[in-house]
Amino acid sequence: MTAPRRLLSRLRELMASGNTTQDASPYAAPLAELVRLVASELVSEVCSVYVQRPGDILELAATEGLNPSAVGRTRLRVGEGIIGLCAATATVENLPDAQNHPAFAYRPETGEEPYASLLAVPVRRAGRTLGVLAVQNRTPRHYSDEEVDVLETVSMLLAEVLAASGQTDGADEGLAGTLPRVFAGTTLVAGIAIGPVILHGGFHITGKLLADDPEAELRRLHDAAERMQRGLDELIEARMPSTVAADNADASASREVLEAYRLVAADAGWLRRVGEVIRGGLSAEAAVQRVAGELRDRMRRIADPYLRERLADLEDLAGRLMRSLSGNIVAHEAVPLGAILLARRLGPAELLDWHARGIDGAAVEEASPSGHAAILARALNLPMLGGTRGVVDAAGPQDQAVLDGDAGQLILRPDADVRQLYARAMEARSALQAGWAALRNRPAVTHDGVPVSLMLNVGLGLELDQLDITGAAGIGLFRTEIAMLARGAIADTAEQAAIYARVMDAAGDRPVLFRTLDLGGDKLLPGAAVPLEENPAMGWRSLRIGLDRPALLRRQLRALLLAAGGRKLSVMFPMVATVAEFRAARALLLAEVRRVRPEPTHLSVGTMLEVPSLLWQLPTLLAEADFISIGSNDLLQFLFAADRGSPALSGRYDLLSPPVLDLLEAVLVQAREAGVPVSLCGEAASRPLEAMTLVGLGITSLSMPAPGLLPVKALLARLDLSAFQPFLAAIRRNAAGEASFREPILNWAREHGLPV
Ligand code: PEP
Ligand code: MG
Repeated sequence: MTAPRRLLSRLRELMASGNTTQDASPYAAPLAELVRLVASELVSEVCSVYVQRPGDILELAATEGLNPSAVGRTRLRVGEGIIGLCAATATVENLPDAQNHPAFAYRPETGEEPYASLLAVPVRRAGRTLGVLAVQNRTPRHYSDEEVDVLETVSMLLAEVLAASGQTDGADEGLAGTLPRVFAGTTLVAGIAIGPVILHGGFHITGKLLADDPEAELRRLHDAAERMQRGLDELIEARMPSTVAADNADASASREVLEAYRLVAADAGWLRRVGEVIRGGLSAEAAVQRVAGELRDRMRRIADPYLRERLADLEDLAGRLMRSLSGNIVAHEAVPLGAILLARRLGPAELLDWHARGIDGAAVEEASPSGHAAILARALNLPMLGGTRGVVDAAGPQDQAVLDGDAGQLILRPDADVRQLYARAMEARSALQAGWAALRNRPAVTHDGVPVSLMLNVGLGLELDQLDITGAAGIGLFRTEIAMLARGAIADTAEQAAIYARVMDAAGDRPVLFRTLDLGGDKLLPGAAVPLEENPAMGWRSLRIGLDRPALLRRQLRALLLAAGGRKLSVMFPMVATVAEFRAARALLLAEVRRVRPEPTHLSVGTMLEVPSLLWQLPTLLAEADFISIGSNDLLQFLFAADRGSPALSGRYDLLSPPVLDLLEAVLVQAREAGVPVSLCGEAASRPLEAMTLVGLGITSLSMPAPGLLPVKALLARLDLSAFQPFLAAIRRNAAGEASFREPILNWAREHGLPV
């Protein structure tokens, strides 16, 4: 028998012996035996278990090889030393020379000086770290993959022993678990929800961990995988009626996102890996949990957001497979009213399931705006936050929460007063929304009669019905890359043409400004051969890729011309930094125009203005571009040197500030002189105070995400521009180094009874 199999079978005997109590510390006996077994089977001189205690303390609970008197005495904070690092990051530390690692923390009482190499593995259960299992050796060595594998398997068993003992620290235990806590996050979908929390995932095994008969376990896995695949097909079919409701938002979402998911599900690689782990001696459930854990670790190390998304899909599938193994393929029970889902990660199928069960909101620790779950949540108009780190561990099953998607925060266990406040805000909002809906067919015009064009930013087919829902004037920004990201690859010319034609059909007479692929930065396709860059937002991305790979860009331009098929066509280029780049891109477009018939009846070629260098090339640019669209998201990022994706910086620099308003005015004045239309299409346009100020400056064409359109229209309908403009001019004239004009503008709006 190989060492790992022998170790597992001896551990099985140990666990079966029920040797768990009678001691002052109820798990001291099995732990002592466990570390002894591991040390001897792995041929390591030391094996130790550290258990997490209240207050984020890791305590040495058992050791073979270190000084026995250190047990119960040696304590490290989570994050302190290699052990603390392993617990804090929940990743394996495999170090040939641990004592020279910068994180090493010396504890003389342990007597660990002679040991050079260290392998530390986090002990996790249901997504929580319960402790750390470590082995050490005198000789400096890198532990083999097999050794890491074995130690990770042992750590799973250990997690069950610790959980059964009920003595591990719980972040949700004690007084701290009853107090309100606020978690800041990123708004993925605005809106408010109030209700009980529901925890997603965190599944753990209720049955056996070790396989008595690996062949039987493999058969169970095979059957469960088939059941899961069938359940998934049914779910996707139910959500993706291929022709009947092609315009329905859910159906479109399914087409564009779930197709990618189905491919991941059908990929045999991860199931093979589960099979391997079963052959190593684990039960099917334990093997799935193990592989899900490996995926989580890989996700933590992968920066590429798109690959992370793929791995999140796989983790989602692991959860389904686990349920399938337990015979419970789809959970149908409805959830309580107002339920808020808390998840570490969430795949698209899980989101659809939960939505069908009636959740009112979701907070996901690891979710990005371009992630699958966020794309679907937007289509379903489900309030959602991303980046709410720590919320899953902090929440208990009985907790209530307020999800404030507008302010980007989740309040766990809110005071009754806070809940009431939000309940009132929700009521007021539904009343407001009812009022806004009435505005849909009214023209967008200020109270004193200045017309404003309010358009939509769109990225997916499923958002097209927002044109009619909001009564938008058109699509001021169609982000062509989003559909490619949703499908996981760049579609060929014909497929692209079909996508763009659908957009033009939906818009009818309303204008659509198509932006060419803006890939790179945070928008990466899987497997894209992009160089590793220190600052991807400023790297080889967007039009830079298009110009260096002209075949790719030309294919897209051809698709746009084919889609237009003799209609009007407006195309703009993202991330243009020089007039020369604009010229080169336009030349590629004109070359395609010569090849494609019928020609568009009218062709407009414009540029995004989102790189500050263009500001000093405006006279030349304005002589050549048919229109300009200001991308304030990127423009502010590059202007203030402030990463737009960093939660720590959000709100630090303001569009309503002297430099930005001066800049925008300068662009406007020059564009007006040149007779070139200017619009602004960053997220800022959807915020009433910003929209009002932009219109006050003279930018009367705004393009924004759909939820902002009617509130902005409502505000403009009550805005007297002739009163606001002199006020705005005065505060700008009297500016004395303020970082922001937000407060005086807000006060003015309130004094004038505007709905901000
Ligand atoms: C912008 O940068 O403001 C913009 C609209 O483009 P994106 O958000 O797609 O980068
Ligand atoms: Mg941009």
